[in-house]
Amino acid sequence: MLNENCIFCKIIKGEIPSKKVFENDEMLVFADIEPKAKVHLLAVPKTHFKLLSEAGEKERATIARMLAALPEIAEKNGCKNGYRLVVNQGDDAGQTVPHLHIHVLGGEVLGW
Ligand code: AMP
Ligand code: ZN
Repeated sequence: MLNENCIFCKIIKGEIPSKKVFENDEMLVFADIEPKAKVHLLAVPKTHFKLLSEAGEKERATIARMLAALPEIAEKNGCKNGYRLVVNQGDDAGQTVPHLHIHVLGGEVLGW
């Protein structure tokens, strides 16, 4: 289920443009609009929920498959020497978009 007010749902529906690097029936990976590293991708499930704690069995299986797919996607998109995955959860983490997303950061040596 998608949410009509969510920016990432709009990207999934194609209502807002994005630079897509990978897509299948359950996930989309696109470039972050304000990259914090040379390579900065966002991987999102094609269903709207905010937090890992809200994921049911189906969403958990999707997240597992997303994690399994990301090494190849990261490698193909310029992370030749490692990368960092970040999943901000809630206000204290600074989560700004309430649609679960996995940041993929790399393409250079990353500081903290
Ligand atoms: P977070 O702070 O973890 O919620 O991350 C949200 C990320 O979404 C930020 O890195 C933003 O730069 C990114 N972002 C927001 N709007 C867009 C957009 N329209 N296209 C691509 N990335 C976006
Ligand atoms: Zn959404």
